[in-house]
Amino acid sequence: MALRIDGKKISQQIKEELKEKVALQKAEGKLGALAVVQVGADPASSVYVRNKKNACAFIGIESLAYELPEETSEEELLSLITELNGNPKVKGILVQLPLPAHINEDKVIQAISPKKDVDGFHPQSVGAMAIGEKGFLPCTPAGIIQLLKRSNLEISGKHCVVVGRSNIVGKPMALLMLRENATVTITHSKTKNLPEVCRQADILIVAMGRPQYIGAEYVKEGAVVIDVGIHRDAGNKLCGDVKFDEVEPIASAITPVPGGVGPMTIAMLMDNCVQSIEEG
Ligand code: NDP
Repeated sequence: MALRIDGKKISQQIKEELKEKVALQKAEGKLGALAVVQVGADPASSVYVRNKKNACAFIGIESLAYELPEETSEEELLSLITELNGNPKVKGILVQLPLPAHINEDKVIQAISPKKDVDGFHPQSVGAMAIGEKGFLPCTPAGIIQLLKRSNLEISGKHCVVVGRSNIVGKPMALLMLRENATVTITHSKTKNLPEVCRQADILIVAMGRPQYIGAEYVKEGAVVIDVGIHRDAGNKLCGDVKFDEVEPIASAITPVPGGVGPMTIAMLMDNCVQSIEEG
């Protein structure tokens, strides 16, 4: 029977730890707020934004909400970011993605001061991560490292196969696993013999955005399987990129969807905010 990696419990532990840190910071006069910017009213984004505000309230930091209409221009959004960059109270800036099509996401990400880039998406943060320097780590991959460590699953020396090479999950995931001394293989849509490559993994991390794609033929007996995907199935139930029922009997440990990777992303965002407040 595979260990079910409990992202809900681990993320709660992290938030409890952060709550204590924030109380200590307050006692030392270190304060700060997270600015959460949403453009338009995409329902999924609204849920994420609400969860982020709730997490701030839980750990005891202020969140400032900027809910802008869909027709906000790129210029208006950039000017808000400039204002937030210069506001000493704001220690973290989060722009909820995706943005409406008329706004260039890269331009917006690059406008955020690296000192307040709590999502870890700015090229300076990405570069710092790549060369092992201090900086904000992207939340989902950093959360997966925490899931593995806090479940006492060894990373060093293991062969990790990452499925997906997006800038927000696959690529940074591979870099962080490398930093933890795993031997890393990155795969993508042009990879040949994907099942065979995946079967070599001691740790298989799937971030492909294809509902219930990875079945038993992709998994080695005893592998650790991390499912990053989030989808709604035909019955409107949440599911991942992995066929959970088929893979669980083969794996030694596996993350469920929901309750695996998902809750970790927000916990690590809070961790970045607390780090930013600490650094002033
Ligand atoms: P993207 O669509 O940006 O990237 C998907 C990656 O998977 C691409 O690199 C693509 O390859 C690869 N891929 C797609 N199909 C195949 C295939 N058949 N074989 C091999 N590789 C394939 O997705 P994201 O990285 O942004 O997200 C991935 C999933 O994770 C989504 O379901 C998303 O909702 C979820 N997610 C969950 C988060 C959480 O907090 N739990 C946070 C972020 C994302 P190529 O580059 O060649 O096109």
